[in-house]
Amino acid sequence: MAVVGYGAPLKMLDLPSSTPGPREARVAVEYCGVCGTDLKIVAGALPFSPTVRLPHVPGHEIVGVIDAVGPDTRIEPGTRVVLYDYGTCGTCRSCSAGRETTCSRLGRRIGFTDPGGFQERLTIPEELAIPVPGSVSARAAAAISCAVGTAYRATVTLGQAGSGSRVAVLGAGGVGIHAIQIAAAVGAEVVVAEPSPSRRHAALAAGAVAAVAPEELPALGKGREIDVVIDTSGRAGIVSAGIALVAPGGRVVLVGYAPGEAIGLDAQDLVLREVSVLGSRYATRADLTDAIALVARGAVHPVVGEVFTLTEANAALAAVQAGRVHGRVAVAVSGP
Ligand SMILES: [Zn+2]
Ligand SMILES: [Zn+2]
Repeated sequence: MAVVGYGAPLKMLDLPSSTPGPREARVAVEYCGVCGTDLKIVAGALPFSPTVRLPHVPGHEIVGVIDAVGPDTRIEPGTRVVLYDYGTCGTCRSCSAGRETTCSRLGRRIGFTDPGGFQERLTIPEELAIPVPGSVSARAAAAISCAVGTAYRATVTLGQAGSGSRVAVLGAGGVGIHAIQIAAAVGAEVVVAEPSPSRRHAALAAGAVAAVAPEELPALGKGREIDVVIDTSGRAGIVSAGIALVAPGGRVVLVGYAPGEAIGLDAQDLVLREVSVLGSRYATRADLTDAIALVARGAVHPVVGEVFTLTEANAALAAVQAGRVHGRVAVAVSGP
């Protein structure tokens, strides 16, 4: 299912399946998660959009099974893997500092600028395939590469949530519902602001001790110092409320954004209260590996709320747009 023109529905195309070359593997895609970024990709709303060659196969949250390998490839056929989306250089300043998400020589980006998982087979360099333990089902793994991995980096790696800390998650969608579980799994107390009553309910079931509507967000700080705020909304008003909520010395981690929407910052407030505002992008391989370990030991349960068939990919995008699904929407490509 491919983008044939920006803003137009995806179209089913017949494309040749590739043969893996040296140190490459071919993945038979089982599931591909769908997120808000996919809406921006199919609309052509991202900075790289004008340079992407159409037709473009989107889909960047991929789980599948290795079905063919090229010469000198170590990964075994039959291995279930999730894909790390970024082809990073490994040597630039960011990569050397363990911050490969901002690699200055990013090559491939699966589903973003390069072919993704809305197709049966995809050939990738083997270093982008991360094995998933047998205890994790293919359907659960459909939310790992983007939703769980992104939530892990924001919450643990950059947010530094841990035992005894208090975390506020703003928005309990695909990333938020996993940020709640991850924060709880590492021993933090979690509170949530979310407009949807049913998602608030899901947030409490996922381990939050309080969940309120966004208008009541200031109340989340009553009686408790919030150390970390994870904002998944990217909305200026919500981010401002999150900054007001965090305790002195705290961190506000931004993981959502709306293209072109600026957030206002009060320098005096940030300086005098020593509040850090951080951007968090996707995940490193190390983040993703740690996130998979949390899922494998049952501390985090990926939430895949609704599954569509590959031919229903447009309906899957519409479901993400409508924001009515709990956790992740996924497309079952060949999954059970
Ligand atoms: Zn995504
Ligand atoms: Zn690099």
